Amino acid sequence: MRIPINEVTPDIERAEIAGWVHEVRDLGGLTFFLIRDRTGIVQVTIVKKKAPAAVLEAAKAVSRESVVRVAGTVKAIDKAPGGRELNPDTFEIVSACASPLPLDVVEKVPADLDTRLDARFLDVRKPRVAAVFKVRSAVTAAAYDFFTQRGFYNITSPKIVAAATEGGTELFPIAYFEKEAFLNQSPQLYKQMMMAAGFEKVFEIGPIFRAEEHNTVRHLNEATSIDVEVSFADHEDVMKILEELVAHQYAVVADRCSDALAEMGVEEFEVPKAPFPRIAYADAIEIAAGKIEEPIACGDDLSTPAERAIGDEMGEHYFIVDWPSAIRPYYAMPYEDDPAICKAFDMMHPRMELSSGAQRVHQHDLLVEQIQAKGLNPENFEFYLQPFAYGMPPHAGWGLGMERLVMTMLGLQNIREAVLFPRDRHRVVP
Ligand code: ATP
Ligand code: MG
Repeated sequence: MRIPINEVTPDIERAEIAGWVHEVRDLGGLTFFLIRDRTGIVQVTIVKKKAPAAVLEAAKAVSRESVVRVAGTVKAIDKAPGGRELNPDTFEIVSACASPLPLDVVEKVPADLDTRLDARFLDVRKPRVAAVFKVRSAVTAAAYDFFTQRGFYNITSPKIVAAATEGGTELFPIAYFEKEAFLNQSPQLYKQMMMAAGFEKVFEIGPIFRAEEHNTVRHLNEATSIDVEVSFADHEDVMKILEELVAHQYAVVADRCSDALAEMGVEEFEVPKAPFPRIAYADAIEIAAGKIEEPIACGDDLSTPAERAIGDEMGEHYFIVDWPSAIRPYYAMPYEDDPAICKAFDMMHPRMELSSGAQRVHQHDLLVEQIQAKGLNPENFEFYLQPFAYGMPPHAGWGLGMERLVMTMLGLQNIREAVLFPRDRHRVVP
């Protein structure tokens, strides 16, 4: 029976493995194969004088990156990867690989990101690239564990919607029978409706679609959001949940992904500790103003250089709180004693924003007022506004970008490295 390659150890006698031909070295009397599966690599050594004819024939015919099934005796060998090798008595080509390969899996020939993404299934055969997705999988699993332990309901909101969450232009229209519809940019309104439904604590991990025109290293047109909404909670309560979640996700990766981290060459993996420092928006602006060339003043959105300048100063994960109401969405709750600022926050990695959240306005009339103040028409929000008239509890929540979380966690330079099949301005294939 086939066993994973990392279970082939010098202390077992025989093993059967299956995987891809990673490398072949023919030294005349000896042929060395490196065979790879998702757990590791093993050396398969064929001594031409001793090997059965069928093994020799297959070994001669096989091309790199073909799928093979190999069985034989295991021998301890210091110089081989993992300190062992396999001497096969069977060597079967299960599925041959055509050549030339569109991408070099052993990375002797460097490839640019576009070439890699064009042949992504081959690109992720590279252990170093696959490791990113092992970590991402653990980050996702850690979130499900975290929320389940805390009694959150996992919800699924529709991705085909009739109206924008925030009325913005960042929407993809789609042909939906006779109507116009859009791909949803955020589960925001639906999470809030589930507060009116009495669910109290919900989360969703799902796609968000943003028709951002610009091509940057931290924007995708289809991203994954970890979304949370909690009733009878204010912004402080949900900031606590957010920082504890992120600290937990890092801790899980440190604990369960040491092989993947080593594969990626991550030497020091620091787990952030909750609570993260809080800085008021006005103070953040002051830091940025002292460090960047372009003018910046209270009331401005944070530009990329401003974010970086503040991040350099903070040097760890942190929250920016007390934002001007004017630059936050209509659903952010203004402070009672100073409505010019609101109970919104961003959670930041020193390199970029990871999450935005707020205590929400739960009072129907105030919400209508705030929608109008943003120049939007409340009539377009009828389905959303209705629950606010029928017993809406106070609530707060946030959305955390999965790809940015993984990207900053692993020090990746481009967000596309954190997605299997990125969607950007120029790419809808594969
Ligand atoms: P930014 O200003 O950095 O473009 P945003 O404020 O527009 O982000 P939000 O609407 O606050 O984004 O979304 C919450 C989180 O979702 C962001 O902090 C980010 O982590 C993630 N996110 C939003 N848009 C994108 C995108 N286009 N690509 C990748 N992640 C995104
Ligand atoms: Mg934001």
